[in-house]
Amino acid sequence: MIPLLKRLGLNTYDVDSTSHIQVDTDKCVQCVGKPCTISCPAGTYEASPDGKIIVHYERCLECGGALVICPYGAIKFRFPNGGVKYKYG
Ligand code: SF4
Repeated sequence: MIPLLKRLGLNTYDVDSTSHIQVDTDKCVQCVGKPCTISCPAGTYEASPDGKIIVHYERCLECGGALVICPYGAIKFRFPNGGVKYKYG
């Protein structure tokens, strides 16, 4: 059996030219725990020194976890035109 991190490393990405994730970063300033930065397995969400969030949309695994965990409903998501291609579903 191939370990999870090795399997994820075999994924390929067809990255869109624009982000498929939009974040209302004004809401992020009041979000103390910033759970999106902890829960995303791909590190898509990074806390910025100004209290907002930087989105690395090209890393997104399209799992939807951040949408569920965000306590402020600050994330708008659509599936990208390209996106991740899983080697192992
Ligand atoms: S969980 Fe939501 S409100 Fe909190 S930092 Fe992340 S995107 Fe912003």
